[in-house]
Amino acid sequence: MSQPYSQLFSPLQVGGVEIRNRIFSTGHDTNMAENGLPGDALIAYHRARARGGAGLVVVQVAAVHATAFYTGLMLDGTHDDCIAPYGRLANAVHQHGCKVFGQIFHPGREIFHTADGTEPVAYAPSAVPNQRYQVMPRPMTREMIAEVIDGYAATAARLAKAGLDGVEIVASHGYLPAQFLNPRVNRRDDEYGGGFENRMRFLNELCAAVRARIGDDMVVGMRISGDELDPEGLTPEEIVEACEALDAGGVLDYFNVIAGSSASTLGAYHIVPPMLVEAGYVAPFAAAVRAKVSKPVFVAGRINQPQTAEQIIASGQADMCGMTRAMIADPEMANKARTGRSDDIRACIACNQACIGRMQAGHSISCIQHPETGRELTYGDIMPAERPRNVMVIGGGPGGMKAASVAARRGHRVTLYEKSARLGGQVLLAQLLPGRAEFGGLVTNFEREIELAGVEVVKQTEVTPELVAEQAPDAIILATGARPYIPAIAGAADGHVVDAWQVIRGEANVGNSVLIADWRCDWVGVGIAEKLARDGCRVRLCLNGPVAGQRLQNYMRDHANGMLRSLGVEVIPYAGLHGIDADSAYLRHLSSGEAIVCDEVDTVVLALGHEPADDLGRQLTAFDGEVFMVGDCMAARTVEEAVLEGLKAGAAV
Ligand code: SF4
Repeated sequence: MSQPYSQLFSPLQVGGVEIRNRIFSTGHDTNMAENGLPGDALIAYHRARARGGAGLVVVQVAAVHATAFYTGLMLDGTHDDCIAPYGRLANAVHQHGCKVFGQIFHPGREIFHTADGTEPVAYAPSAVPNQRYQVMPRPMTREMIAEVIDGYAATAARLAKAGLDGVEIVASHGYLPAQFLNPRVNRRDDEYGGGFENRMRFLNELCAAVRARIGDDMVVGMRISGDELDPEGLTPEEIVEACEALDAGGVLDYFNVIAGSSASTLGAYHIVPPMLVEAGYVAPFAAAVRAKVSKPVFVAGRINQPQTAEQIIASGQADMCGMTRAMIADPEMANKARTGRSDDIRACIACNQACIGRMQAGHSISCIQHPETGRELTYGDIMPAERPRNVMVIGGGPGGMKAASVAARRGHRVTLYEKSARLGGQVLLAQLLPGRAEFGGLVTNFEREIELAGVEVVKQTEVTPELVAEQAPDAIILATGARPYIPAIAGAADGHVVDAWQVIRGEANVGNSVLIADWRCDWVGVGIAEKLARDGCRVRLCLNGPVAGQRLQNYMRDHANGMLRSLGVEVIPYAGLHGIDADSAYLRHLSSGEAIVCDEVDTVVLALGHEPADDLGRQLTAFDGEVFMVGDCMAARTVEEAVLEGLKAGAAV
């Protein structure tokens, strides 16, 4: 069989290092550091991607100076204690034929939390505030600049001693080197500010110091945003000019192009771009850099499928493709692509929920589709069952499908029952919301998983206690999901009231003026508001919280709020619904207790969450085998919890 992705799986020489293919995991925060050092969990995480066929792993940022800790959960490269743990990580990755680089990092003013919760003093070229984190930095002295540059070099030397193959200077996303380069952020009047040559001085001295400390054998690269996509950020022209100058300096072995900036709400959206963004959209920025430099150019940004990566490499836009979330969702992605099993790849759907979303919430990263990620020490290898048994999984949503596939892979005989004609549960609704079609990819992925695992699927069959008695399974996994929660609301019989699911399915005639009571502040309220506003309705979105989409990953939430404003949706925060009549809705401000009366309401849409559909579980009193409950039938939450509980049940049965 010919190689399906011949460009993607050709080796690449970067400096003195040959990388086996063009797929790499970009440096990304994992929150898996242990006391600032790589520990067993982080090593197992990267080992899984190396074993899965990645050509290169770039380990997340390591602080190079005491002022460089932008979270309390990052790696610490400021002392020699890091050498041995980095060495163990490098060995683990090398054992699978994969190369490993480490990022060296100072955020400048881009600091968002500290280990003890206090606000740190942030240092930057000048006292120019950042918009997103509301940080007013303190200008760096010349002595401090020299100390920080020495810190980059010292950290690089530690990574060299640990046996890594390269270091990557992080100048992307408006971090410290980009702050020096940016004339709107760097307002200095000494030799580090002013004209281009002066603003390049920090980057040039930094590159030279790193190279001088680690010698010529080790790779030195730079990560840089091809466009910071921020009104005050670096432009493509400024970036290309800087890369050209750095290339002429001869120190760097590669350029790693990304997009966006940490400094602003607009720019941050591109740090981990969600599903609304086109696949591979950063490639033109990489191509612009590649046209002007002599060294390989890497690119990342929503490259979730090997065919996209192959096209980018084949078209000459870049030499390596960062496929980080693609390998968070499926660590075996590269091996599957290489061996002609592309249909088996669990494609990332760019939901941002459990990877960057968990990271920003202070937890180790994972994936809603593959909760084994970040839990490799517990679930990295699926262990065969001691005794194969007959397992009945009831409910074909994501939790049930995950439980079924894991149990079947362990050797159990698994039958999955779904009462409707289609697998997918609430994902089939979620994918109907505007801009959320790709969410449906989760169903496609799980359907393939259960097929590969050998699960028998029975659709259009409602399981009853009688059917359970007839089938007599050894164990049951209940994943029967949830239904809309409809509380008693005064006057509801006098008004036109529908639930969120009816609107999503297109079953409700809502009229011209709609009020949405959004209890959960998640995708449901935001998505219905967008859908109805695009249909031409006047929409009032009343929130049981301070901000629309409060529970969403913050890039998604920020984008959603911009979109609602553009569409003219009236957002009413802190508003709890307590009454309805023929054409009005009565709410109460959740903080002041004052009444909020909304008149001229044709329809009230209840997006008040869900209650467990656990009737069958309560009827199974005669069943004496093992029973597991998974996901919403236990307590209505999100797909992340359902799939994780499916994994746990499948691994335990
Ligand atoms: Fe991709 Fe969503 Fe998984 Fe993150 S959580 S890796 S965005 S599928």
